[in-house]
Amino acid sequence: MTRSAEQVMQILYALRSAGVTDPRVLHAMERIDRAHFIRGLFANRAHEDVPLPIPCGQTISQPSVVGLMTQALAIQPRDKVLEVGTGSGYQAAILSLLARRVYTMDRFRSLVTSAREVFERLGLHNITAFTADGSHGLPDQAPFDRILVTAAAEDPPGPLLAQLRIGGIMVLPVGQSDTVQTLLRVTRTGEKGFDYDELRPVRFVPLVEGIGPE
Ligand code: SAH
Repeated sequence: MTRSAEQVMQILYALRSAGVTDPRVLHAMERIDRAHFIRGLFANRAHEDVPLPIPCGQTISQPSVVGLMTQALAIQPRDKVLEVGTGSGYQAAILSLLARRVYTMDRFRSLVTSAREVFERLGLHNITAFTADGSHGLPDQAPFDRILVTAAAEDPPGPLLAQLRIGGIMVLPVGQSDTVQTLLRVTRTGEKGFDYDELRPVRFVPLVEGIGPE
């Protein structure tokens, strides 16, 4: 399935209406067709600005939220980025067009396997996907210039704060999983210094400890 010019215009309109104005982010989102990351029943709704179900009871985020989170990260071309919560792989694919290298982790092996297949098919060779509990981060590859968490924790996980480079930025939803959460941008200003900005209300699936059963 390929997108019509009208579908691309609709997505760009939804992004701009939500406040996504960074030309690099808009261009990356124009290049990656979300339909590659959605299978089955909901595939025909891939171009709507809504979250949709993916396997393992998880969700692919709404494109405007993906755009806002990506914009808030202010990624530089040489950056090494960690994403916690691979899910479908859509967000990681967008990140991969903006950064030098992307590491992405999910607790469900089957999601990681499917996402890797799509990365391969699209020729996105600067993404490495792992099955692991991302709340511990990826100490072997730390520090990261940017960290994006796409599942909600009650507070920013300590290991992720520790793996952020000084001057680096982390974007994540925080709050209880069954309520509206807050999208937070954390900037590391020094060895012990962090600045916190509340960006907007969001709703994400919870960050869950341990490896999933599938
Ligand atoms: N970024 C995704 C959407 C992610 S949905 C996309 O673009 O499609 C949130 C994902 O976080 C789910 O796939 C869930 O399995 C994963 N997740 C939840 N807790 C986790 C943890 N502790 N470590 C790694 N992944 C986790």
